Amino acid sequence: MLLGCIADDFTGATDLAGMLVRGGMRTVQTIGVPQGVAPDADAVVVSLKSRTTPAPQAIEESLAALRWLQAQGARQIFFKYCSTFDSTDAGNIGPVADALLSALGSDFSIACPAFPENGRSIFRGHLFVGDGLLNESGMETHPLTPMKDANLVRVLQRQTTRRVGLARYDTVARGSDSLRERFAALRAEGVGIAIVDAVDNDDLMTIGAACAGMPLVTGGSGVALGLPANFAAQGLLGDPGQAARMPVIAGPAAVISGSCSKATNAQVAEWAASRPVFRVDPLALAAGQPVARQALDWARAQAGVPVLISATSPPEDVARVQAQLGVAAAGELVERALAEVARGLVAQGVRKLVVAGGETAGAVVKALAIEQLRVGPQIDPGVPWMVADGGAADGSPLALALKSGNFGSTDFFAKALAMLDRA
Ligand code: ADP
Repeated sequence: MLLGCIADDFTGATDLAGMLVRGGMRTVQTIGVPQGVAPDADAVVVSLKSRTTPAPQAIEESLAALRWLQAQGARQIFFKYCSTFDSTDAGNIGPVADALLSALGSDFSIACPAFPENGRSIFRGHLFVGDGLLNESGMETHPLTPMKDANLVRVLQRQTTRRVGLARYDTVARGSDSLRERFAALRAEGVGIAIVDAVDNDDLMTIGAACAGMPLVTGGSGVALGLPANFAAQGLLGDPGQAARMPVIAGPAAVISGSCSKATNAQVAEWAASRPVFRVDPLALAAGQPVARQALDWARAQAGVPVLISATSPPEDVARVQAQLGVAAAGELVERALAEVARGLVAQGVRKLVVAGGETAGAVVKALAIEQLRVGPQIDPGVPWMVADGGAADGSPLALALKSGNFGSTDFFAKALAMLDRA
């Protein structure tokens, strides 16, 4: 393993893993800290759920991930957080970065959530979302991590006892040598973590090059774009075209949808126009009807034709269900049913599974007891195909595409499945 990554949430980990594959690194995402030895890969992304847990717990989990990655021989560590720097004054970006630096015996790292391609740029230490500042982007009212200050030097300084500094855009624009010199100067001044400006993808490549050999790099998935080239330059990566290669997956396909986002509603409607759908009714579930069983019987009767099992509903229907059952109870009821459907479908032979919905995907992965996913080609931005080696009970591989909320084009489901047919 060359690059060991610690991500503070699951979909962020997938996003990062996809980026590394794009850079030519064979990448595996693990769910939590693995027990055994590392899979054969250039990079491993350990996904945690540490974004909003209490700081001591986030630190403990991150250090456990670090110990495992170090034991597997990782040469560099990457700590991944959200591109909107989601955190509170109590953490967890600062405290986790501090703890990782100390454990690595290092005294300097960078912090750079920039991803200009996705509208996240940093200038003079200020994070912009699109054309506006972070604190005017809607993130200022986020229920868990309200971001009310766009000045990342100030934001991070409130989270760490190390000194926070800034590597400005003019230095980045002069290239990686000048940026490296700036890092050395900041370090000599006693700065422990430097926010780095970046306004386009070339800047990310410059930053990546300047971070070659740095024990710990912290950032959004964008910064990871520039890291594979460092390993490639040392001749440590194989054929970059092979990084996204997937084994041929044989077996029927199915789609499970539990997201009620606008994009997912459109994707379900598009599929339903010409393909079979089973609608999961939350009120029938609440009434104790064996809905999952009925869905599985229906799916079996489709005799191998790809099916969609969907709880996806427009906002007014969701509101009606939530008013009757309660928001959390409705969500849980549907997630549990869809997880049971996923388990049943795989038991019936399904080996290609598309899942829509972040929480829904989490429930499905858990129900299938999947611990590791090898990351394959990108279907749409942020959503790659992934393979759980031996993910089915008979030990055969299982292909999964896990799509959160608003990701994916309208024809996402059919497009994803068609990609596997072509492979
Ligand atoms: P997204 O990624 O779009 O946020 P999630 O799966 O994370 O999707 O969240 C959607 C939530 O809505 C889940 O908890 C799911 O169980 C719940 N849900 C799905 N369908 C319905 C429905 N028809 N009525 C109420 N809740 C639903």
